[in-house]
Amino acid sequence: MQLRTSENNLFSPIIGLGEVDGNRLWVKRDDLIPFSFGGNKARKALLFFDEVDQGGYDCVVTYGSGRSNHCRVVANMCAQRGIPCHVVSPRGHGGPSFNGRMVRAFGATVEEVPVEGVHDALEAAVARFSAQGRRPYLIEGGGHGDLGTEAYVRCHGEIRHWERSSGVRLDRVYHASGTGTTQAGLVCGKLCNGHPAEVFGVSVARTEARGRPVVVESALSYLRFKGLPADPAEVEPAVNFLDGYVGGGYGGAGGGVAGEVSGALARWGLPLDSTYTGKAFHGMREHLRSQGAAGLNVLFVHTGGTPIFFDDLEGSVG
Ligand SMILES: *Cc1c(COP(=O)(O)O)cnc(C)c1O
Repeated sequence: MQLRTSENNLFSPIIGLGEVDGNRLWVKRDDLIPFSFGGNKARKALLFFDEVDQGGYDCVVTYGSGRSNHCRVVANMCAQRGIPCHVVSPRGHGGPSFNGRMVRAFGATVEEVPVEGVHDALEAAVARFSAQGRRPYLIEGGGHGDLGTEAYVRCHGEIRHWERSSGVRLDRVYHASGTGTTQAGLVCGKLCNGHPAEVFGVSVARTEARGRPVVVESALSYLRFKGLPADPAEVEPAVNFLDGYVGGGYGGAGGGVAGEVSGALARWGLPLDSTYTGKAFHGMREHLRSQGAAGLNVLFVHTGGTPIFFDDLEGSVG
């Protein structure tokens, strides 16, 4: 049985962590979405694969690094359907990883190319499948695009549903921000519903100068896609993009992240990883502390990455 998406289906639980640094903290456990170790890439891919199923596509082309959560989930969904999956990967990004091993175990073909050759390799892969009489479906890296944004508009709906049933009124939402799709979805969910809680994307790699315009453009693109008013003057102030916690850039963990990762596991049984959620969780706490925030109701959206938790663990035990 395949997991199906629906507006009313709550995909992930919200867990209370109690009082943390003077604020009340909850975590939306998207890492527990019940497909392929979950995460935001599973939430997004469920929508892409609705299109695959409905559009009669019979093979998938996508790209991402060897450590990518996105490629693991997409390869797993292809394996489930028994259709070919071709992954174009930029060469030299990441050594061995559990995600990479699973991508291969699911039978995906992985083509490593220099990063500047990714675009051509994707086009060539689509052309090859088409020449074989197949109908290929192309998924952008990280599940970027309007459908990926839609997935997090729906996540925001789940959050509002939880607020109504729990009586908690959230003041802030924090999460790890990469390609910006997750943040664009949460921001559109907020704007379309007049929801008061501010959304803070904690960058895992990009500077604000590079990352923030991508989130804004993704949000505007989604609003146009839905036929809604797309006003930059309304969207821009709603995008809080924090780039002060990227540490050593993508994959590199700055000071404090390792301690946050081991601390969260010991204290709450909450697995974080050093590439995404550990950085974002640490960045959230630092940001709240730096503002002297107290008495706020704060939600952390845990975007997944469980296999990377085990990469980290293996690295740390040698
Ligand atoms: C990809 C990823 C992100 C970033 O999501 P975007 O939608 O690209 O911003 C955050 N956390 C995890 C665990 C991811 O795999």
